[in-house]
Amino acid sequence: MDEKKHVVVLGGGFGGLEFCKAFHSEDARVTVVDRTNHYLFQPLLYQVATAGLSAPEIAQPIRSVLSDRPDITVLMDEVQDINVAEKKVLLRENTLSYDYLVVAMGGRNSYFGHHEWEEFAPGLKTLDDAVRIRSRVLLAFEKAENSLEKEKHEELMTIVIIGGGPT
Ligand SMILES: Cc1cc2nc3c(=O)[nH]c(=O)nc-3n(C[C@H](O)[C@H](O)[C@H](O)COP(=O)(O)OP(=O)(O)OC[C@H]3O[C@@H](n4cnc5c(N)ncnc54)[C@H](O)[C@@H]3O)c2cc1C
Repeated sequence: MDEKKHVVVLGGGFGGLEFCKAFHSEDARVTVVDRTNHYLFQPLLYQVATAGLSAPEIAQPIRSVLSDRPDITVLMDEVQDINVAEKKVLLRENTLSYDYLVVAMGGRNSYFGHHEWEEFAPGLKTLDDAVRIRSRVLLAFEKAENSLEKEKHEELMTIVIIGGGPT
């Protein structure tokens, strides 16, 4: 029987990994769960979406980030539910018991109740999102190159960005 306390960290993004780097205890073992096996530097997602960088340039395996921490186990799995009363996390593949739980699973885009907008204005939070946007933009440019109608050409070359923040 393992006497060490089990600390389960949900999410291997900014928050989860900062916790892991700062937390050291000989009395605890740590398990990090993330649905991807890579840490993603989200601030550069827009560069992947606009073909300025390739996907591997802004992602790093979580195991490599934590390679100097033999006390930490990394699992690629998706969190489905948390049973706080029984201190269990239900994953797609497994169920994990914990003594302490760190929840750092990030955020989602808000469409202000208009979920139908998402199809036309996809969010930019994951590598898949960035690659999908890049492909849509580049294919529109290719179609514009092939288009002989001026109006169609202009339509394909027009990109509307909603939101004037850094991204
Ligand atoms: C395009 C963009 C640009 C940004 N630019 C900046 C910037 O310039 N400066 C700045 O300070 N911040 C910036 N941010 C914000 C910053 O990236 C976030 O605030 C930060 O990543 C949040 O950290 P987090 O740990 O809460 O979540 P995240 O870093 O998103 O990590 C969450 C992790 O949880 C995992 N996860 C989610 N759901 C599940 C599940 N059900 N099961 C298993 N794993 C799951 C995800 O795979 C992910 O690895 C930007 C964000 C975006 C999207």
